[in-house]
Amino acid sequence: MRFALVLTAVIAAAGCSGVSPLAPDVEYENGPGDGPIRYVVHVSVDGLRPDAVTRQLSALPAFARLREQAAFTDNARTDPDYSNTLPNHTAQLTGRGVTGPAGHAWDTNRDPDPTVTLHSNRGRYIASVFDVAHDHGLRTGLYASKSKFALYDRSYGASHGAPDATGPNDGRDKIDTFVYDSDTGDLVRQLVADLRAEPYGYVFVHLRDPDSAGHAFGWRLWSWHPYMRAVRRADARIGEILAAIDSDPELSGHTALVVTADHGGTGHHHGAGEREHYTVPFYLWAPGVEPGDLYALYPNAFADPSDLRPGFGGDLQPVRNGAAGNVSLALLGLPPIPGSTISMAGTLLVAPDDAPTTAAQPVTPER
Ligand SMILES: [Zn+2]
Repeated sequence: MRFALVLTAVIAAAGCSGVSPLAPDVEYENGPGDGPIRYVVHVSVDGLRPDAVTRQLSALPAFARLREQAAFTDNARTDPDYSNTLPNHTAQLTGRGVTGPAGHAWDTNRDPDPTVTLHSNRGRYIASVFDVAHDHGLRTGLYASKSKFALYDRSYGASHGAPDATGPNDGRDKIDTFVYDSDTGDLVRQLVADLRAEPYGYVFVHLRDPDSAGHAFGWRLWSWHPYMRAVRRADARIGEILAAIDSDPELSGHTALVVTADHGGTGHHHGAGEREHYTVPFYLWAPGVEPGDLYALYPNAFADPSDLRPGFGGDLQPVRNGAAGNVSLALLGLPPIPGSTISMAGTLLVAPDDAPTTAAQPVTPER
């Protein structure tokens, strides 16, 4: 019952006026985007193992800052069955697992055929974080460093995106700006310039460097190793995003950063049932969010999975990277993604003492 009340509060905040779930005393005067958090930057670091961060934390100023200021864990989980790039990023963006009746069903990791969308593959429309943000009038962006992310630009573009049935018609193209650049230095420079010109309500940023180094040279944790150097590059990119937020009065104090990964790796690969493949970090840095270890802060809401890889069935779920899209929306005072099943928004948006006793989430209605 308590959980239902919390979720109701989160959903109610998405109306034209309501109460911010983060700061109950703050009223939204003009609807979503008028609460304490107006902007969310969601970063996924491809192939980032949490122990590649902890082993060289003194060389990673951005991650060191997040570990001081964010609610986080080094023991979040990917989908129970898949730990590779497109299936797991699709989970982050849709709030669905890969398989089963509620799954998004995108289980391959190749550059997709240019005629295929997430919807044609599934046989029905699969809504995303972009749908909810854009349909509520927010500006959205996707900055990707692998060409296969064109799948999302196509699935949520003007031809294949769903009609907007929410409030004013914001159109079918759910992603206002799509940028692909394999050089993450250039990619983030472009992002920062675009943020300064006009902030995004929600923007997703994909940093490929650790995965690319891992495949080429191996997921090795020696500080001189190319994989660890790539993690330092990813840290620098996140540092540039943090600096852009700090230095802009429009963004500072009003922007949340969600940082996670799609998977880890061992040897020269990932995607198997190894702990180093399915263990990912999850950071939530936002005004009003209590910093600390997520499992310690919310012992009744999440179950630390130790070395295991639990399925979606249990009541007490691990923190999952697939919650990133729904967490982003809740921070903005928006409802969850239609059809999504992975979320912890109702948990993280209340003080730890008031957290519900389960992280299991209802399936929201399909449209
Ligand atoms: Zn990979």
